[in-house]
Amino acid sequence: MKLKDYNSKRNFNKSNEPIGKVKNKKNKKLKFVIQHHISRKEHYDLRLEWDGVYISFAVPKGPSFNPKDKRLAIMVEDHPLSYGNFEGTIPKGEYGGGIVMLWDKGYWAPHKEYKPNFDKGPIKFTLKGNRLKGSWTLVKFKKNNWLLIKEVDDYISNTKKISEFTTSIKSGRTMKEIKNKLNPLKLNISNPDKLIFKKEKITKKDIVNYYNLVSKKMMPFLDNRLISTVRAPNGLNKSIFYMKHFNNNKNLGKKVVNSNDDKSDYYYIKNEQGIIDEVQMNSYEFHIWGSKQNSINYPDILVFDLDPDDNLNISEVRDGVANLKSILDKLKLKSYLKTSGGKGYHIYVPLDTSSWKKTEKIAKDIANLMVENNPNKYTTNMRKQKRKGKIFIDYFRNKKGATSVCPYSLRLKKGATISCPIYWKELYTIKPNDITIKNIKDRLKKDPWKNFFTAKKSS
Ligand code: MN
Repeated sequence: MKLKDYNSKRNFNKSNEPIGKVKNKKNKKLKFVIQHHISRKEHYDLRLEWDGVYISFAVPKGPSFNPKDKRLAIMVEDHPLSYGNFEGTIPKGEYGGGIVMLWDKGYWAPHKEYKPNFDKGPIKFTLKGNRLKGSWTLVKFKKNNWLLIKEVDDYISNTKKISEFTTSIKSGRTMKEIKNKLNPLKLNISNPDKLIFKKEKITKKDIVNYYNLVSKKMMPFLDNRLISTVRAPNGLNKSIFYMKHFNNNKNLGKKVVNSNDDKSDYYYIKNEQGIIDEVQMNSYEFHIWGSKQNSINYPDILVFDLDPDDNLNISEVRDGVANLKSILDKLKLKSYLKTSGGKGYHIYVPLDTSSWKKTEKIAKDIANLMVENNPNKYTTNMRKQKRKGKIFIDYFRNKKGATSVCPYSLRLKKGATISCPIYWKELYTIKPNDITIKNIKDRLKKDPWKNFFTAKKSS
């Protein structure tokens, strides 16, 4: 009967919170736990073990280290002792929907002169936690409303704030990281905590979460396209470029491609799970062909990669990209812009041509036109020596077998950047390496390449 309230407020088919059962244990030591809870209103839940349950208080401002503060503590329904291990998310719309972080735990003991009376109070007690220590008092003033006050002892402070502690004592995660945690039903990641980007503190799990977030947006660009990936099982600086050594799996398709005297196996991703499977195998960067495997000799994407020399400033790069766009506009070729994640920008044009030769010629002619108009600024010469102070217009990706970075692919580059579709109007406000795995989330509401495959193609 004790946890009736607790159980009736929750739908355990939807929430991962533990089902309430009273558990009287023999151990005399009483546990306490504090959970930081971001729901409709942010608060800290103080739970004190008593008679086989946690007597619980929601403390809107959380406990204070300063004896002068009187913190409102609202008594809520008793919680089961198993709740003391709970950390995670509660679905939106459910009771307490939001994020729960294990903020502190340890033992508590009522002061000797008191037999705690949770109907009336006051209750004086000592906490032995990781973050909270020393004596406190709970005073009831009306109905379920109590005050939580720090007693004067060795642990008081008028400068220390509980907001200084932003990570879980259980998992070390921040609220944001708890929120981003994968639905465990979906997938078990191997080595989830392995740091792939050391300096940026990005783990394999972060990368899996990212691809889960963008897989739907990426899929149209991967659909039936042969891929190569960059794998980095040992992190950023030890990456390996893979062309074809993919694992056979139902989410990947295999295609044998004949070229001159060579016969090679290539792979393509069949569905969103295929992306995640590849990430699971440590493929973190995805590169795509310009044609589809089922019409392999008919490229449908034209790609330009504007790659500036190191000491060129960004405004020159942007002018170069704008210049290329104006040429494409004149030719009535609708073009789309994305950041490279490195120093330059990529321009894609959806196209229908009858051969690779034709596509390559169009790309080459446009690139050469730019060089002719401005030979001091542009070059199509790949050699580093010839590129000094210039923008290299890389049109060489328009050949059978060549690849370009897939939209929304993570780059194995400093900062964990993304090759991200942007609007043309953003050319002068977004730098090629501005969008990263850490800040892309808000952008995903936008879809700058929305009509890429549906708009009428040029041919
Ligand atoms: Mn709560």
